[in-house]
Amino acid sequence: MTVFSTPHFDDHEQVMFASDAESGLKAIIAIHNTNRGPALGGCRMWSYASEEEAIADVLRLSRGMTYKNALANLPWGGGKSVIIGDSKTDKTPALMQAMGVAVERLGGRYTVAEDVGTNPDDMVEVNKHTDHVRGVKGKGFDPSPATAFGCFVGIKASVTERLGRSDLKGLRVAVQGLGHVGYDLAQQLRDAGAELVVSDINEGAVAKAAAELGAKAVGLDEIYGQDVDVFAPCALGATINDETIPQLKARVVAGSANNQLAEDRHGQALADRGILYAPDYVINAGGVIHIYHEGPDYDKQAAFAHVGRIAETLEEIYARSRSAGIPTHEAADRIAEERFGKAA
Ligand code: NAD
Repeated sequence: MTVFSTPHFDDHEQVMFASDAESGLKAIIAIHNTNRGPALGGCRMWSYASEEEAIADVLRLSRGMTYKNALANLPWGGGKSVIIGDSKTDKTPALMQAMGVAVERLGGRYTVAEDVGTNPDDMVEVNKHTDHVRGVKGKGFDPSPATAFGCFVGIKASVTERLGRSDLKGLRVAVQGLGHVGYDLAQQLRDAGAELVVSDINEGAVAKAAAELGAKAVGLDEIYGQDVDVFAPCALGATINDETIPQLKARVVAGSANNQLAEDRHGQALADRGILYAPDYVINAGGVIHIYHEGPDYDKQAAFAHVGRIAETLEEIYARSRSAGIPTHEAADRIAEERFGKAA
C-alpha cells in the first residue's frame, strides 16, 4: 500500500489512519492543505474494494475541498475522511462515536460533516466525542436550499456572461434531476420567468414539476438535446462526456451536480463548442458556505448573502478564462491555487 506514490497524492499535509477494534472502525482522514485555516470536509462511508481505492478517494476528495473552500471564500482548508464499510450494514452508533474520537485526536485541524453514506444522525454520535463536527441533527441545517440559491445566482451570472442578458424572463432551462436541489432551483427559475424542461427517473417529481411549474417533461436521454439556453445538471456526475457534448444546444452548462465533467478534457470540449461551463465545485458551494454560518449566531440573511457571492467568483473565473485563453475549469483551479497559496 502506498500514499506518497499514488497519482492522487498532491503534497497532502497529513494522512491519518484510524482504527478501533471494538467498533470495527477503519477510517482514513486526509488533510490536504490548511493555509487558509483548519480543514473541513465530509465523512464518506463506502464499501471500497481495496484499501488503495479508499486512499485514492480520500486524497482526491480532500484536495477537492481545498479548492472548493478557497473559491467559496471560506477561512477553511481542505480535508475529507472515509470509513471503509457498507453504510447500510456496518454502521453503528459505536462506530460513529469511534470516528468522533479519531477526529478529536486531530485537535481541530480537521472538522467533519456528513457526506455519502453518513447523515445528520451519525454526526450526533460523532459529536459525543468531538466538537469539530458540522451538520449535527438538531444543530445544523439542510444545505440544499443554499445550494439551490447558489446555482440560481450562478446561472444568472453565466447567462449574463454568455448571452449578454441579466433577466431570465423567457430563458429556456433544462433541469436534469428534480431532487432536493433541482426542484428548488427549478422553482426559483420559474419565479424569475424562465421556461423549464425537466427529466428525472422519479416520475412523481416530473409530474409535480409539470403541474406546479408548467415544466415540459422529457425522457432521461432526451434532456441533453433540448433546444434550450441553459443545461442544469442536478442529478449525477459525468453527464458531460463524449456522447452528450455533441447533443447540447444550450450555450451554458450550470448546475449543482458534483463532478459533471467525465474527464478534464471535456471542459475544453465545451469551450471548443462555445458552451460556457460554470465549474461545478464553484456553483454548488452554497451548501458548504451555509455550513460555515451554522451555530448559535446563525444569521440567515448573512449566510445567503455570502452564498450570493458565488456570482462574483464566477465572474472572476470567466474574466480569467477570457484573458488567459483557458477553459473555465482551468481558470477556476488557477484562482483557487492563488487563494490558498499552492506551493510552486
Ligand atoms: P437528490 O438525491 O435529492 O436528487 C437527485 C435527483 O436526481 C433525484 O430526484 C433522482 O431521482 C434524480 N436522478 C437520478 N438519476 C437520474 C437520471 N439519470 N436522470 C435524471 N434524474 C436522475 O440529490 P440533491 O441533494 O438534490 O443533489 C443533486 C446533485 O447536486 C448531486 O450530484 C449532489 O452531489 C450535488 N450537490 C448537492 C448539494 C446539496 O446541498 N444537496 C451540495 C453540493 C452538490
